[in-house]
Amino acid sequence: MRSHLLNDLTAEHYRRSVTEGVERVAAKLATTERPFTGVTVDALTPRIDAIDLDQPLHDTTAVLDELEDVYLRDAVYFHHPRYLAHLNCPVVIPAVLGEAVLSAVNSSLDTWDQSAGGTLIERKLIEWTTARIGLGEAADGVFTSGGTQSNLQALLLAREEAKPGPGGREEAAGLAGLRIFASEVSHFSVKKSAKLLGLGQDAVVAIPVDHDKRMQTVALAHELERCRRDGLIPMAVVATAGTTDFGSIDPLPEIAELCEQYGTWMHVDAAYGCGLLASLKYRDRIDGIERADSVTVDYHKSFFQPVSSSAVLVRDASTLRHATYHAEYLNPRRMVTERIPNQVDKSLQTTRRFDALKLWMTLRTMGADGIGELFDEVCELAQEGWQLLAADPRYDVVVEPSLSTLVFRYIPAAVTDPAEIDRANLYARKALFASGDAVVAGTKVGGRHYLKFTLLNPETTTADVSAVLDLIAGHAEQYLGESLDRAS
Ligand SMILES: *Cc1c(COP(=O)(O)O)cnc(C)c1O
Repeated sequence: MRSHLLNDLTAEHYRRSVTEGVERVAAKLATTERPFTGVTVDALTPRIDAIDLDQPLHDTTAVLDELEDVYLRDAVYFHHPRYLAHLNCPVVIPAVLGEAVLSAVNSSLDTWDQSAGGTLIERKLIEWTTARIGLGEAADGVFTSGGTQSNLQALLLAREEAKPGPGGREEAAGLAGLRIFASEVSHFSVKKSAKLLGLGQDAVVAIPVDHDKRMQTVALAHELERCRRDGLIPMAVVATAGTTDFGSIDPLPEIAELCEQYGTWMHVDAAYGCGLLASLKYRDRIDGIERADSVTVDYHKSFFQPVSSSAVLVRDASTLRHATYHAEYLNPRRMVTERIPNQVDKSLQTTRRFDALKLWMTLRTMGADGIGELFDEVCELAQEGWQLLAADPRYDVVVEPSLSTLVFRYIPAAVTDPAEIDRANLYARKALFASGDAVVAGTKVGGRHYLKFTLLNPETTTADVSAVLDLIAGHAEQYLGESLDRAS
C-alpha cells in the first residue's frame, strides 16, 4: 500500500496517475456537447449505491472508468457556453495548475512552520487585493472558504467592535440590542451569520430596494435613526456590491456617508462584484468600496478561479485580533513578538488550504488585466442580452444589468392568470434541465417565479442567449398547450 503514498519513491506513479486523470478530463472537456446530460436522481442513485466501498479496485484505470460512470459523464459542466445558471464560472488553466500543485505539496496555511513561502504568497495577494480596493496602509485580511465565511468573519469583527461599553441602556440590551442593516435582496449568509453570532431574532433589518434592486438609502437613514432613538446599536451596514439575484450594486458612497454619520461598521459584500476590481472599463461601478471597514471577495465567482478561493479584507488590521486565539501547540503568543507570521491568528479556520496559489498562478500568467478583460466581456454580453429581452414581447425583464445577471419571465400574450404563468416558467426551467440543452436558474420577484441567467462564460454568445430564450419559450408553450388540453 505504500506505493500509494506520494513521496520520493513514487514520483513516477504520481506523474502517471495524475496524467491519466488529466487525460480523462481533457477528453471530456473536448467532447462535451451539452452542459448536462439531464440524468435524474433516480437514475444515478442506484449506480452509486451499487458500489461497495469496502471492495477497492486497486487500479487507477479501473477507478477512473468507474468514475466516468458515477460522475464525469453526468456532471454539470460550467465551462459549457449554455451553462447560464448560478454564480459558477469557467476556470482558467493557470489556476487549475495551481490547484494541482497546492494539493500535491499540501501546505497548510495556518502557521508559518506548515507553509513558509505559502504564507508570504497569501499575504502578498491580500495586500494586492486591499490595494485594488483602496483600503489604505493599515489594511489586512485572510483567505477564506467562501463568501459565507467571509461575511461571518466580517460580522464577527463588527460585533466585537460594536459591543456596548459598561453602563447605559445599550449594555442592558446586550447582544439583543445589536442591529445589522442589509438590503432585502442581500445574501442569506448575513442572516445566518447573525444567528451564529448570537444576535437576536430581529437583528437583521431588511432595507427596501429601489426599482434597480439597489438599497434605498433614504430608508437606510430612517432605520439608522430609529435604531438610535430606540437605544439600540447599529452594529453594521452590509452593502452588497453585486446581489446574487440581480447583480445590482448598492449605492456605496451614500452608504459610506451614513455609516460615518452613525459610527457604524460598513461591510461590503462584493462576493460577486469583486471582478470589477480587475475590470478595465467598469471599475467605477464599485466606487466607494474603498470606504468599507471590511470587504468580502469571491475569486471563485468573478476571477475565474476554481472553488474555493475567497477572502475577507479589513481596513484596520488590528480588528482581526477578534479572531485570534493562541494555542501552545500551534501559535503561542511569543511568536507574535518573534514576528513569525501565523495566518491562523487572523482566520476562523485552523488547517487551511493554500487556495491563494491559484490566484497567484493566474496573476503571474495572465495578469489582472487578463481577468478584467474576461469579466468585462460577460458584463457586455449581459448588456446585449438585456437588449434582446427588452425587445422581445415574449419576455418581461427585471433590471438592466450592472454586472452579468439577467432576470426575466416568459409572459405569453394569451394567458392572464399569473399563477399559470408561474407554472409555465417553472416547467420551462425543469424541462430545459432535463433536456440538458442548457441550464438556467430561477428566483422570485414580487412573489412571482422568474428565470435567471448568470453569465460568467466569455464563450457564451448572444446567439446562445437568443437560442436558450427560444428553448425556454418552446417548453413554456408546450406546458400551456398541454394545460389547455387538460382543461378541456
Ligand atoms: C455567493 C454569494 C455569497 C456566498 O458565497 P459562497 O462563496 O457561496 O459562500 C455571499 N454573498 C453574495 C452576494 C454572493 O453572491
